[in-house]
Amino acid sequence: MNNALYRLIEPRNEPVKYYEKESHDFVQIMETFNAWRQRKLEIPLIIGGKRIYTGKTKQLINPNNHQEILAVYHQAGEKEINMAIDAARQAKEEWMTLSWVERVSIYLKIAELLSKKYRYDINALTMLGQGKNIMQAEIDAACESIDYLRFNSYFLSQLYEKQPFSDYSALNRMEYRPLEGFIFAISPFNFTAIALNLALAPALMGNTIVWKPASTAVLSNYFLMQIYEEAGLPPGVVNFIPGNGSTIGDIVLSHPDLGGVHFTGSTTTFNQIWKTVANYLEDYKSYPRLVGETGGKDFVVVHPSADVDTVVTALIRGAFEYQGQKCSAASRAYIPESLWGRIRHQMLQVLSEIKIGDVSDPNNFVNAVIDQQAFDRIMRYIDYAKSSTNAQIIWGGGGDSSVGYYIEPTVIQVFDPYFKTMQEEIFGPVLSIYVYKDSEWSDMLQLVDRTSPYGLTGSIISQDRKAWIEACRVLRFAAGNIYYNDKPTGAVVGMQPFGGARKSGTNDKAGGYLNLLRWTSPRTIKENFLPPTNYKYPYLD
Ligand code: NAP
Repeated sequence: MNNALYRLIEPRNEPVKYYEKESHDFVQIMETFNAWRQRKLEIPLIIGGKRIYTGKTKQLINPNNHQEILAVYHQAGEKEINMAIDAARQAKEEWMTLSWVERVSIYLKIAELLSKKYRYDINALTMLGQGKNIMQAEIDAACESIDYLRFNSYFLSQLYEKQPFSDYSALNRMEYRPLEGFIFAISPFNFTAIALNLALAPALMGNTIVWKPASTAVLSNYFLMQIYEEAGLPPGVVNFIPGNGSTIGDIVLSHPDLGGVHFTGSTTTFNQIWKTVANYLEDYKSYPRLVGETGGKDFVVVHPSADVDTVVTALIRGAFEYQGQKCSAASRAYIPESLWGRIRHQMLQVLSEIKIGDVSDPNNFVNAVIDQQAFDRIMRYIDYAKSSTNAQIIWGGGGDSSVGYYIEPTVIQVFDPYFKTMQEEIFGPVLSIYVYKDSEWSDMLQLVDRTSPYGLTGSIISQDRKAWIEACRVLRFAAGNIYYNDKPTGAVVGMQPFGGARKSGTNDKAGGYLNLLRWTSPRTIKENFLPPTNYKYPYLD
């Protein structure tokens, strides 16, 4: 019997492990990594708790060594997509009526499993399949996933406490219903934690989910499903259907019971989803909630008062960690003429030390990009810069996809602030730099605001607080997450709720309570204790 008012403890962020060489953690994770590398998994769909093998398979390859096949996975066709929708609808009644504490306890158990029993596994699988090095896998697959689970559980408990006022004559209540229908979660390849949150945040609010993982992230994402099952998530609450994006998208988005879409990925894909939903508007039972976090063209603005070491570290980490494949990656920088010589010198020195190669060697700071398609797209941008008189490659520019999809960290100095690589998302290890005249600081801020259609992240590096305040004001709509004297990446759940507007998405702030609000359709309940029995107001007598 659940008759207590539970209070969850205020969560703390999961401590990050640093995997110093020869440490116990390091030895353990490398052993786990090598063990998974030997296993060639066959990955089924999971619908209503059942494993389904469609026979229509695709290979998962190691981006750091594309001759290596890590697994094969089965893809959903029309029949399985409809089965997943039915399974989600069937699981709904029991899941949404379960006491919230029972739902939360499953989530807290998933967090503990990820924190202890399966930490090395989830990190190792993210390293192998998505090409993250140890550090990048740890902050994503382990820490951020755990934080989403614990913080969202806490936010939920606070949200349910928020109730309307009552007087003595009536009792008013707010019931936080899930959305009617099912939720379609569509996840990107670049964060295991985002894949977890896209399905589990709406499910926490009592929704049930059809989840389409990114085709290149199926390995770690399948493992997540197994952890959910071990923690006791009932069958059908999350239905895992890998497969082709548009095949699955077209069928799921046209279903009259679509309650919402929780998406993270490119702006192009989200635009397509939005248009498809608009086409079926007359057919839906409700207006589906569309939550999409999309691309970015994230800036670093350097003031003449900035500390050079801070700038160089922010640029190197911000632009090149995980090969720039973060929506928040620093990809355009504005540097004052007076500091350019020193920044350039120091940055090139650091870049000359950076090693590129397989994630199995912890000395490599930069690893392979996700696949051939990404490799080709990024190299096209680099080649474009090479052939232009408005830009000069000052570091890198090379790529080699003979073994893995390796691209050198590349720095382009542009002479036109509207140069293509200053405007478009490249999603690779490419940083474009524009050098401005110190006297043009204020004009330059306007330029930053106008240059790109995105509005995700940005950072301002300065030791002059007045300049920071001015930049923060002028760039109010240029970024949903802005950083002062820091890199523009690395948002932490609960600390920097994440998301941007303009062409970067609906800004529903993953990692904060605002995101949870999108997955509920509250019902207000009033009980009148002594209802009136005569229609006449006193003035009518
Ligand atoms: P993507 O190509 O847009 O794919 C995202 C997901 O959408 C994948 O699961 C993909 O499936 C699926 N998909 C593709 N076409 C679809 C369709 N017509 N209907 C339904 N689903 C469809 O993005 P990505 O390359 O995985 O991720 C990189 C992008 O994500 C970048 O633009 C990055 O900025 C953005 N991102 C944004 C945030 C944020 O918080 N703002 C965070 C992370 C990433 P397949 O894999 O099978 O193609």
